Amino acid sequence: MTHIDEREDREYKHWATVVSEEAIERFGEKQVVATGWAPSGYYHIGNFKEAVTCRAIHRELLNLEAESSYILNIDNIDPFDKIPAFFKKDYGKLLHKYLGHAICDVPDPLGCHSSYADHFISNAIEIMDEFDVHPEPIKTSEMYTQGKYDKYAKLFIEKKEETSQLTEEITGSRMEEFFLVQCPKCKIFAAPLITDYRIESKEIIIDIHCKREKKGCGEKSTIKMGETLWKLKWRLDWAARQDFFGVTVESSGKDHGVAGGSIDTSLAIHKKIFNKSKLPLLIQHGFLTFGGKKLSGSSGSGMPVTEFPKILDPAIFLFKIYRSNLRTDFDFRVDLDIPSIASEFDQAEELFYQKLSLEHKKSREKTIKAYELALIGEPSSNKAIRVDYGHLATVMQVCLFDEEKIITRLKSTGIIPQEPDDLTNLFLSKRFQRVKYWTENYANDNIKFKILENPDCEIVKSIDQTIFNHLFEALQKLPDTLKGDDITQFLYEYSKKQQIKPKEFFQLIYLLFIGRKSGPRAGTLVDAISKNEVLMFMKKALKCLTDKIDS
Ligand SMILES: [Zn+2]
Ligand SMILES: [Zn+2]
Repeated sequence: MTHIDEREDREYKHWATVVSEEAIERFGEKQVVATGWAPSGYYHIGNFKEAVTCRAIHRELLNLEAESSYILNIDNIDPFDKIPAFFKKDYGKLLHKYLGHAICDVPDPLGCHSSYADHFISNAIEIMDEFDVHPEPIKTSEMYTQGKYDKYAKLFIEKKEETSQLTEEITGSRMEEFFLVQCPKCKIFAAPLITDYRIESKEIIIDIHCKREKKGCGEKSTIKMGETLWKLKWRLDWAARQDFFGVTVESSGKDHGVAGGSIDTSLAIHKKIFNKSKLPLLIQHGFLTFGGKKLSGSSGSGMPVTEFPKILDPAIFLFKIYRSNLRTDFDFRVDLDIPSIASEFDQAEELFYQKLSLEHKKSREKTIKAYELALIGEPSSNKAIRVDYGHLATVMQVCLFDEEKIITRLKSTGIIPQEPDDLTNLFLSKRFQRVKYWTENYANDNIKFKILENPDCEIVKSIDQTIFNHLFEALQKLPDTLKGDDITQFLYEYSKKQQIKPKEFFQLIYLLFIGRKSGPRAGTLVDAISKNEVLMFMKKALKCLTDKIDS
């Protein structure tokens, strides 16, 4: 929906505001925001992106004083068509006999929930909870049992020709079968081929042939719809539930929005089969990937969403998603990008508390709105002093993760005051844990290092002495007021003045202090070690060189 992108840009508005305003204009005060998910595996990043996108819209609708509710449609009568990789080894045999059954009828192999689907549902709800996403969960199986879909099934049968034609016009292929029905004999959901259906005295009668080639029993039966599990085919199911829930806004991945995709089909059904003039706002969001990979819940590949909160404050993840344009895809690398994602949030907070000015109005409005929407709970009246994630990763490694030493170092370098307030202390203890977890489990090898306690004379003797002397001089002249990247800049300019390649200067720092040719940003490293200790270390290193001359 390109006009949303346009308005995001033209009016300096956040997409959550643009979508909410449009929904209110179309439907008035009463709003139903929906998201959907099939629990055939663990909740993954794509599901997560959808749910948090809808969370922002629901929140903004409430901000705009609409009466909004947020529902999660859980499609738990999907056929069980694949045993996920993570269950194969231990439960493959047990699960194999349930292939083709509906996932709400497959047992939980771990035995902790009443079904396979319920196992993943509880995992998803837990994750959503951590990210402050609280839609009302609704299981499709219950909606079918309660008869919510009955009238739609009848309607599609009555308008059989129109429905088939409409699907052909939009998708290019004609939908002839509208249902999936469970075989009454073998209980398989995926095997029955519907050979005929009709309405007789208000009941839907179906003839099925349970296909052996789809692992069915081969029997033919005639049943009344509702005697066994059934469901509408996905595109019809989607439109039907949007109708009976009165969905006003739903977001799905961009793949649903391609020409002839499920969004087009759903809108056409609303218009031509349900004869509606006000169509739900079916928006599309961009993809979120890790290192170029879309993660899948059923194959169990990639980093599970449960890892996110161990690495970053959930509000920071939400902010990252909310600060991007709705339809923009973004990819991030867990090993490298976490510190910069954290510092974007820290800056947004500064902006929110007006401790930082940002001239560009568009950027400012969007950043502040994204920050507000990302917050879990109300903003506090005061803000914590945030210590930069990347800097902390370096300081923590320099101090070998000793918390007391880290605090002392942060105080002595003036990053935190001698007596930090409670908010800052709380922030620090949480960020310590996350930075440590990330450094130990995910950080790129370039970011991870072990500081040398004493100079390695072998290394020192192998380096260019002129460059060493210039570096020593530069560090002696380093103004005490400089921190982090300003130190990097100072060293950069100093080396240039001496006609030394800055790269050689930085490499020397890494060689001396961590015994290899690359590492975290040089300035951050020097800052974390502290100027005094750096100079002491250099003096010791000099001894290696005098020894060399002596010998
Ligand atoms: Zn379970
Ligand atoms: Zn059968």
